Amino acid sequence: MQGRRSFCVPGRAALERQRGKPSDSKRTQRHWLAHLVQCQSTMPFESGAPRQHPILPTEVIDLDGKHRHGLRVFCDTRQRSVPLDICRECPSCARITDSEGGRGGSVDCTPPLELVPDAPVAAGAALRRGVVAVDAAVLVRDVVALFVERGLRLVVVTGDAGRAEGIVHESQLLREIQDQARSLPTRLGWGLTAFESASAIMFPATTILEHAPLRAAVAAMATGHQRQLLVVDADGFPVGVLVDVDALHALHGRRD
Ligand code: SF4
Repeated sequence: MQGRRSFCVPGRAALERQRGKPSDSKRTQRHWLAHLVQCQSTMPFESGAPRQHPILPTEVIDLDGKHRHGLRVFCDTRQRSVPLDICRECPSCARITDSEGGRGGSVDCTPPLELVPDAPVAAGAALRRGVVAVDAAVLVRDVVALFVERGLRLVVVTGDAGRAEGIVHESQLLREIQDQARSLPTRLGWGLTAFESASAIMFPATTILEHAPLRAAVAAMATGHQRQLLVVDADGFPVGVLVDVDALHALHGRRD
């Protein structure tokens, strides 16, 4: 069972700032991320305690509009993400709390201690959010519709066989997203961009491997002044989006 979490004083202050004021300055962000990397009060998961792994929904939208859904779980024992069906068959699985599309669902498991590698907390273990991805050829117009319908902050652009290639962030299309949400007429100049492919406007994705140490992920966020990082598996397929607050909980939280 999940215990109450405690934080060191700077960690608690950072968490409260994040909750109350999501637009913290980059200076503040750098400050607490740097603290996280160095703080000695960080503790890994307690060995022997039941582990709760969030279910990470993955949705990929193809050029023809087809949606492919998947549910994955980061497994501490294997140090990689696995399809939820693997957990269903796993002898260590105690309970699966499935919810709408995997959102908010989790897997409780108690693997034998000898099977749990003595490794630092991995980036994948801190994930609380899956990904929504589009094929690189999907039109920008359809990406805007996706942002409006789902209230997303970012969309992953996939290329070769579904591997992560880039990211389109909400801020890149903010005006079009707002206009479409309010059913305002299309502005002049938008016509050309709307019919470009997502790959034409994406930024290269900053990624980290799911089994990389969480500390390395946090250090990469601090260095790149980023609040989120795309986590991929060993083959380059997107697994989830690591957000700074989730990293704070996983790296800094501990059980009383
Ligand atoms: S139930 Fe089995 S496969 Fe799933 S996370 Fe736990 S140990 Fe890994």
